[in-house]
This record gives sequence, C-alpha cells and structure tokens, in this order.
Amino acid sequence: MKILVLNAGSSSHKCCLYKIEELFPDAPPAPLWEAQLDWHRPDNAALLVRTAAGEKLEEELLSVSRADALLHLLMTLWQGRTQVIQNLQEIDVVGHRVVHGGQKYQASVVTDEVKDEIASLIPLAPTHNEANLEGIEIIEELLGNVPQIAVFDTAFHSRIPDIAATYPGPYNWIEQDIRRYGFHGISHQYCTQRTAQILGREVERLIVCHLGNGASLTAVKSGRSINTTMGYTPLDGLMMGTRSGAVDPGILIHLMRQGYSADQLDQMLNKESGLKGISGISHDMREIDDAIAQGNKQAKLARDLYLHRLQSCLGSMLMSLGGIDVIVFTAGIGEHSAGVRAEICNALAFLGLKIDAAKNNSDPVDQDIATTESSVRVLVIHTQEDWAIAQDCWRCLTSYPSQVHQVLSL
Ligand code: ADP
Repeated sequence: MKILVLNAGSSSHKCCLYKIEELFPDAPPAPLWEAQLDWHRPDNAALLVRTAAGEKLEEELLSVSRADALLHLLMTLWQGRTQVIQNLQEIDVVGHRVVHGGQKYQASVVTDEVKDEIASLIPLAPTHNEANLEGIEIIEELLGNVPQIAVFDTAFHSRIPDIAATYPGPYNWIEQDIRRYGFHGISHQYCTQRTAQILGREVERLIVCHLGNGASLTAVKSGRSINTTMGYTPLDGLMMGTRSGAVDPGILIHLMRQGYSADQLDQMLNKESGLKGISGISHDMREIDDAIAQGNKQAKLARDLYLHRLQSCLGSMLMSLGGIDVIVFTAGIGEHSAGVRAEICNALAFLGLKIDAAKNNSDPVDQDIATTESSVRVLVIHTQEDWAIAQDCWRCLTSYPSQVHQVLSL
C-alpha cells in the first residue's frame, strides 16, 4: 500500500510517501520520498527540500502562495530527479496530521462533516488547522476520490479522566468544552507503542517527555494517556522554545489592565517567551548552550528555568501515575541533548534511576540508556509522527474500509 502523509506546521509543511508491507516491522521503514517546505524566508519565499533514493535537492520558491508551493512540492513525486511514482493513481491513501480534533475525532476518513469540524476548531489552533484544511482540499483537487484520513493530535488524550481534563474555573466552562485537550498525541502514542516494542513488554507507568520547539509531558498508564501538560491550547505546561508554558493567569489580567490587547498577549506568550524570551538570544537549545559556554548569564537563566519547569511538571506526572517504570525522551532536545537528559535523570536519582553516562553520550536512538541496576528504564526514542500517521491510515483502510469517520480504538 502506498501512503502519502502530509504534516502541516506553522512554519513548515512536511510530506512523505511510504510503501507499507506490514503494520509492525522491527524498525520503522524509511519513506520512499520526503519533501519539506520551510516558510522561514523573507518576501513570501519558501525553501523546498526533497529527498528520494539518497538524492537531496534544495530549491527556493519565490513569491508563492502556500497552496501553489504545496502543489509544486507534490509534483516532485512524479516529475524530475526525485520522481518515485509514474502517476498519482498509484497512491492508495493520503493521511493528514490535524492538530486539533476536539474530543470527537481520533482517526477518521475525511468527509464534509469532518472538514466542518476541523474548520470549526480553527480559532483554537489557527495556523495549524487552516493549513491542514488547505492540504486536504489540494489533495481533493489533485487526486479526486482517493481516501483521505485525518489523524488528530488530540486523539491520544481524548479519554484522560475528567479530573485531569477539567479546569477549576466556573462550572459553565465545562458546558463550553473549555477543558484540557492535550497535544503531541501522535508522538506520545508512537513513543508508547515503540517503548513496548523495544522492551518487549507492556509498561504500566510511563512518562513521555516530548521536548522539541513545542514541548509536553504525558503520563501513560498501561498504554493510555491519563494526564498531560498541554491543555486547552498548546500554550499550557512546560516552558518551550518561544512559548511561556503555564504562567499565573493574574499576570494576563494585570497586562490587559495596562492596555495590552488579546493579539499582543498572544504574540508575547507564543512567540516572545520561553527560551527565546528569557535568553534574549534564541529559541534553540544549541545556541543557548553556546552562549552559556561564553559566559552569558541570561542564557544560563533560560536553561536553568527550562529544567526547573520540566522537573516541576515531571513531579506532577509522577504523582498522577503513583510512580514510574519507564521515562522516554523524544523530539529535538529529548533526542539530542545529552546534557538535559543527564540533568533530569540525576534529579530523579532519588527513585533509584541510574543513567549510563557512556550510553547517554553516544547519540542513542531507540535505545535504553539506564544502567542494568536502575529501577527505572530510560529510553531515547526518535519520534516518527509521519510513520505513525501512515500506520493509522493502514489500520483505517484495512479494518474499516467501508465506514466513514470511523473512530479507532487506541
Ligand atoms: P519541532 O517541535 O519544531 O518539530 P524539533 O523536535 O525538531 O522541533 O526540535 C527542535 C529543537 O530541538 C531545536 O530548536 C533545539 O532547541 C533542539 N535541538 C535540536 N538538536 C539539538 C542538539 N544537538 N542539542 C540540543 N538541542 C537540540
């Protein structure tokens, strides 16, 4: 089965083509073709990077709309040096990562009803859900009746207990669906499944630390998310690259009384806070580390604060689970910063957790880096959201081929 996966973010659009022979190979397969559009360019330009059969090509697209750039990207599937198919009819199904699906949807065949729901949630995930709908519509134009599957980032958390999902505001917040939805669900679910595969057993008490530009923790009990740090929006919880994470809501009331508008607060909390806001240098942990090495005090404060908030939130997940058997580190910082992993693991040493320094420093991928006598296993997992989406497409098509917006059991 050939599965095309579209993963739209606020500043990039990633696509890949998988050929799936089996649902659970020993290790995730490499895609046949990958392409990424990066919007971090001046004057409406985009950078297109595509890879197939070991060949990597870069191209600058000037003055293009998002839709035209995506169309151009998709054409490289069957044209030019990264061509991997003869025609579009070879694609069996298209999977989309959709950031916000509310409580209703998990993995669904895209129908008009599902599209309306994604559109209705645009105010809660403005850049993402809009880009997701755009992708779905371009595929409809290009491929006509090919089945499209929406895989939602909120799905893994859709059954967290009410006690973890409810905010203690007025009761009518519950009636307005103001609740904790949680995000990064595709990654947290993938890491949960991959953990069981690597260790060869189901795990009772697992904490997944997804530490990328966006960051969240999830407490997973026997395979199910029971608590998570992101909330009604992806702004809650941990300190992140440019996002503040949880702050005293009284600060916002104070700033609004000083005349700040909702848009200004949005910009401040989402784009000008976190590592970037405190360091004044960068959202990127690598640049923060370089600045600390040169004696920069603000960078040091940013890193210390990042670790402090991470430890506080880990404490909360730990209490939700009543202990911990396995901790997973994933995404940019989780996968690549041996220093952050070491400091977090040292803070958990009181539990009997012991990290193997040599393994931690050897760029581990999908590997256990705890010592044999450690009471907690420590895994570093390369998160593969696109592969997880491809697996959901396979499940949707093979398990429920004739049903629309079928909810998958997780
Ligand atoms: P996104 O959330 O945008 O998908 P990633 O998961 O790719 O992001 O994480 C990107 C972040 O990972 C970077 O901004 C940087 O902070 C961090 N990162 C990447 N490589 C390293 C590294 N070698 N050492 C420390 N941090 C890293």
